[in-house]
Amino acid sequence: MATPDAVRRHYDSLAFVYRTFWGDHIHHGLFVDGDGPARAQLRMVEHCVSLLGTFGRDVLDVGCGHGGTAVYLAKRCGCRVLGITISEKQGYLARENATEAGVGSQIGIVVADAERFAYPRERFDVVWTMESSEHFADKGRYFQNASHTLRPGGRLLLSAWTGSMRSARVREVARRFLCPQLWTSEQYESSIAAGGLRVRASEDLSRSVMRTWEICSQRAQAAKMAVQLLPTTARDFVAGIDVILEAYRKGELGYAVMTAEKP
Ligand code: SAH
Repeated sequence: MATPDAVRRHYDSLAFVYRTFWGDHIHHGLFVDGDGPARAQLRMVEHCVSLLGTFGRDVLDVGCGHGGTAVYLAKRCGCRVLGITISEKQGYLARENATEAGVGSQIGIVVADAERFAYPRERFDVVWTMESSEHFADKGRYFQNASHTLRPGGRLLLSAWTGSMRSARVREVARRFLCPQLWTSEQYESSIAAGGLRVRASEDLSRSVMRTWEICSQRAQAAKMAVQLLPTTARDFVAGIDVILEAYRKGELGYAVMTAEKP
């Protein structure tokens, strides 16, 4: 079951696997012109920054992983970033990465459940939500919270795996990757609007991100012997790579990036 505790255990125990297979940015890459994975991951962040258009001083990064994005934003935009992660292990890695990158004073990390977090009113210019909302049981409530914590004129960035829970493949991806539900772009758009934000942009990037999983699959294949020695959770995760890839190839799983503004 995709409970907050299960999500915490997943990221605590798989931090090493994520790092080995993909690095400290644990989101899809945006592949253009034969990009390698590291370049594609940064390109995704850069693309989202440019889609947001404006960048204020205070950023809330909900589901901040190992802090890869927080470090990038602190350096590139000079902003202050508060990262939330449910995983203690990730919190440790994110703080370590921020300090090593010389932006420790601009980045704060809180280990907390984002669905229970006390979001301060009108405190942030940007709420960055990259591939974390999939894990939330009450996404509608989350977008209300995002709206509440944004300053007027502030912006939400959302990137998410998308799909209809009517598809058995999508349900299987959701089950394996601890997502209570995956949503379609339309569900996200209407929930963001219902939360009080105005959707400014919505893009389908499925075709440009799918290569992420082709590369992970190749890496898993190459490390097949070593994978056999990993604990069951890690082996299950690796087995899930091909399930995702197939769902993308069939066009049932997708990837959306959206921005929205608080009026
Ligand atoms: N945004 C990061 C990490 C994406 S992985 C990146 O782009 O690299 C998903 C992240 O969401 C993980 O950091 C996980 O700990 C976090 N997450 C999932 N459910 C959460 C919850 N309920 N509260 C806080 N963080 C959560």
